[in-house]
Amino acid sequence: MKQLKNMTYDEMRGFFESIGEKKFRADQVFRKLYQGIDTFEQITELSKPLREKLESCAEINSVQLLRKQESASDGTKKYLFGVRGGHAVESVFMKYKYGNTACISSQAGCRMGCAFCASGINGLERGLNAGEMIDQVSAIERNTGERIGHIVVMGTGEPFDNYDELIRALNIFHEEKGLNISLRNITVSTCGLTEKIMRFADDMPQVNLAVSLHAPSDEIRLKLMPVAKSCSMSELLSICRKYTEKTHRRITFEYALIEGVNDSMENAAQLAARLRGMLCHVNLIPLNRVSEKDFRGSARKHAEKFAAVLSSKGIEVTVRRELGSDISAACGQLRLTAESEG
Ligand code: SAH
Repeated sequence: MKQLKNMTYDEMRGFFESIGEKKFRADQVFRKLYQGIDTFEQITELSKPLREKLESCAEINSVQLLRKQESASDGTKKYLFGVRGGHAVESVFMKYKYGNTACISSQAGCRMGCAFCASGINGLERGLNAGEMIDQVSAIERNTGERIGHIVVMGTGEPFDNYDELIRALNIFHEEKGLNISLRNITVSTCGLTEKIMRFADDMPQVNLAVSLHAPSDEIRLKLMPVAKSCSMSELLSICRKYTEKTHRRITFEYALIEGVNDSMENAAQLAARLRGMLCHVNLIPLNRVSEKDFRGSARKHAEKFAAVLSSKGIEVTVRRELGSDISAACGQLRLTAESEG
């Protein structure tokens, strides 16, 4: 069975040709898929025999809405979507001044095992296919009745651990006949899988890249992120420099401030020294609470002091405003199923 939501527009043209139909059928079907249909019956432009033929060889792979929670304070909505195999992933709808943003998951679970994050607590279940990544956005558009113009691939999972499907999804997001989202409005966040960072510079130079750093030194990073064992910070930063040289795009470094772990003023100075001269921006996020973990986030005031040290040394920095923390929809709080929340 061919899964139609995994196809680019060109692939869908090829698919229709391969089943002995005219390529222009792709125009009718592709558009419809991203207008929120779930069944072939709803594609009324097609004749009944053609719809039946499609049913026998293809399927419209959609995610299933299982649960929705709304933040009382900021309009953020968190969705739990079911995907094939009994897995579930979370996605978040956020309203920012510059437009509506969807935060989507790239995997059910995660195998990166960052010490402070909820998403990896039960390990990896499986990577999502491109259609499942895209349909999180379509489903949110359907549910809210609002258009989404920005996407961040910052839900559960490590997008670069599911690289090929990620690239396919990015291409489909961008299709004019589909969701038509500008690549410059999409951000992918990685914990630092270095070979993929360079591939990404070639494959998707227009998409924004965020790298989860969370430490100013190997000593601290090793305590927080198992991925640090396979790549030192100086290797990671040198790849990041190459990325910016090649793409001329600024990298965002994410840094979750954890009380007493990585948030001293000395840590800020160390970080500034390591990032000196780089085309980058640091996004400070006071750590969000995850019930199973002992770490605590730094106070907002403290985060601002940390930011002041960076900016006095010429590093661009913002302290991120967290949306949706009252429904555990903030960074690092997304997990496999809402049911498992303590
Ligand atoms: N695997 C990717 C995508 C996750 S994006 C990555 O590691 O970048 C989510 C961001 O939230 C990452 O920067 C992640 O490190 C961060 N994060 C994880 N747990 C968090 C927590 N409890 N509080 C704040 N940020 C957290």
